[in-house]
Amino acid sequence: MILIDGKQTATIVKEELKVAVDKLKSEGKGVPGLVTIIVGNDPASAIYVNSKIKACGIIGFNSKTEKLNTDISEEKLLSIVESYNKNPDFHGILVQLPLPKHIDEDKVIEAISPKKDVDGFHPISVGNLVIGKETFLSCTPAGIQELLKRYKIETKGKHVVVLGRSNIVGKPIANILLQKKDYANSIVTVCHSAAKDVSYYTKQADILIAAIGRANFVTADMVKDGVVIVDVGINRVEDASRKKGYRVVGDVDFENVSPKCSFITPVPGGVGPMTIAMLLKNTYEAYLKYGE
Ligand code: NAP
Repeated sequence: MILIDGKQTATIVKEELKVAVDKLKSEGKGVPGLVTIIVGNDPASAIYVNSKIKACGIIGFNSKTEKLNTDISEEKLLSIVESYNKNPDFHGILVQLPLPKHIDEDKVIEAISPKKDVDGFHPISVGNLVIGKETFLSCTPAGIQELLKRYKIETKGKHVVVLGRSNIVGKPIANILLQKKDYANSIVTVCHSAAKDVSYYTKQADILIAAIGRANFVTADMVKDGVVIVDVGINRVEDASRKKGYRVVGDVDFENVSPKCSFITPVPGGVGPMTIAMLLKNTYEAYLKYGE
């Protein structure tokens, strides 16, 4: 069994970006810029945004955070997004979700220029993915594909079973791996809560991607020997032995399932760290494609 080390892979991706940014600087060129717009005081969002800012600083990107009050009007937020669409210093715009209830999230996502849509949530980005055009891929599924690439895991003709059909993980990763491209070209099955017997599908998986948000849902009897598992789930389970009183586990019963796997991602330290790395990669690509 080979453990897929997302933390190390994310570090490598960021180091590669730093080298690229240093080169831009040495040539006297501008650097990629990312603006993060955050509305309200959600602590989880604040932690995520801070780690983005830190990562931008380390690799030498220009980064800015727009902290806005919870009661900001939708109209005002849309005008701020529009101002960054026009601002040449920023090549990526990220609006941290969720937004307060009085703001229509879809409207805000659609207001971001597709040229700066580094989160890959704009309907144009999603549509381009589905029809196989180059586009910004949303960051968590892009991170999954990057891990498969970096570990040279064959995907062509393999049966990939995806658990979960959310717009941020399940649907995009299914569409990415369906493309007639390298590190894709798979036969893809997507399962969701209407599946009567999920194990009927998981037992057939050469590659299983679990993104449902249920602790230890995938058990050893549900997978075949030699399976590749990508565990996207982030779940808290009580653990009195930890200071915080809980620990974080994935959707897969790692202890009992991992001996059957050829490759598996741990939780934490698997897919999680890749998300920010891919956001930075998308921002760098936005700079190359549309910047300067
Ligand atoms: P979500 O929006 O809650 O979607 C969950 C999906 O799982 C839904 O499609 C649901 O089906 C399906 N599902 C739930 N129970 C099921 C069951 N018993 N059998 C089959 N399918 C079932 O979740 P998400 O946002 O995609 O996130 C999934 C997990 O990944 C969460 O633990 C989340 O924290 C984690 N996550 C991690 C990262 C990261 O590492 N960076 C990023 C995003 C998410 P229905 O559609 O029928 O309801």
